[in-house]
Amino acid sequence: MLVLVLNSGSSSIKYQVREVPLPGADDHHEAILTEGIVERIGEGEVEDHTAALEQINSELTAALGDRQIDAVGHRVVHGGERFGEPVLITNEITRAIERLNPLAPLHNPPNVLGIRAIADKWPNLPQVAVFDTAFHRTLPERAWRYAIPDDFYRKYGIRRYGFHGTSCEYVTQQAAELLGCPLGEFNAVVAHLGNGASATAIQGGISVDTSMGFTPIEGLVMGTRSGDLDPSILLFLEREGFSADELDEMLNKKSGLKALFGQNDMRSIVEAVDDDERARLALEISSYRLAKYIGGYHVAVGGARAIVFTAGIGENSPQFRQAVVERLAPLGVKLDDGANLGPADGARIISTGNSAIQVLVVPTDEERAIAEATAAVVASRPIPSR
Ligand code: ADP
Repeated sequence: MLVLVLNSGSSSIKYQVREVPLPGADDHHEAILTEGIVERIGEGEVEDHTAALEQINSELTAALGDRQIDAVGHRVVHGGERFGEPVLITNEITRAIERLNPLAPLHNPPNVLGIRAIADKWPNLPQVAVFDTAFHRTLPERAWRYAIPDDFYRKYGIRRYGFHGTSCEYVTQQAAELLGCPLGEFNAVVAHLGNGASATAIQGGISVDTSMGFTPIEGLVMGTRSGDLDPSILLFLEREGFSADELDEMLNKKSGLKALFGQNDMRSIVEAVDDDERARLALEISSYRLAKYIGGYHVAVGGARAIVFTAGIGENSPQFRQAVVERLAPLGVKLDDGANLGPADGARIISTGNSAIQVLVVPTDEERAIAEATAAVVASRPIPSR
């Protein structure tokens, strides 16, 4: 089955065409047929999401010849409390995603534009929404509820939602498979460390806690986001005259590694660490924060069997992994330095044979996860009545 995977942002659409096996098929052939990005939507050349889709369509025609797309899988950031699984998109589902706009004002609106643009152009093409929050719908209330008055939850939906779910679920399955552990018995901590970063506690293969909260700001130190801080800091700054938009910009775009080192790129931090005090501190603060979360989540899952590193930093930075794992010595975690520094060749174990918790690197592949989820939903949908 050919699935067009779309990640629609406010000014760009990333796309990838994946060939995925039909669920249950004997043939497990899997491939990326083409991929690309249309940028600067709304800035002249590409008028809107419909125009961007026209451009993608001509690129697809050039790349695929007469092979046809069978379905579209959308990365949708926020599924709120309703969506715990990928779903086949109908008009009602699109409206439900739209109603979640206030919870993800930068992300859900362009996701909806992408869905509508496809529906207008190819009304018969099945579309599936795969939500970044869905995997965390299994969080117990002790993990998702903030200790603030109930009204704020009921009236405004203020609770922990968590993000990076698609990546987390995929990486969890791959890690359990690598260790030969049945998914239902797999306890782990997954660290998804890209520009955005989160830690997730996995118990019995499902998410039971996660560091991102009501928004993706909470938790770890990220490329340009602060992660955890005392909420009173914002109240203090508001009284000092900062507007909500200024604070939003500060927390989302000017904080994290960028604030600590001046750049949000972990590579430059690692390169500068020996002779630049700010680089050393940025590495120390970010790795310390993650180590604290791993310790906490080890408790949350009743004993983790694995710590899984994934995404840009997790997959590619042995120095960052080492800085984190060194702090886990009290838990009996031991890194195999050779394996940690070794070539990045797929999912692998980087701890010693006698480490109390195994440490893994597992490359994530959100597009593949979205394509497979899309194929599964489309294959199981009821035959439309005539
Ligand atoms: P996104 O969240 O945008 O998908 P990625 O998963 O691509 O991000 O991760 C981006 C991060 O990965 C950046 O901080 C980048 O510096 C880091 N990164 C990528 N390659 C390396 C590397 N070889 N060493 C250290 N950090 C790396």
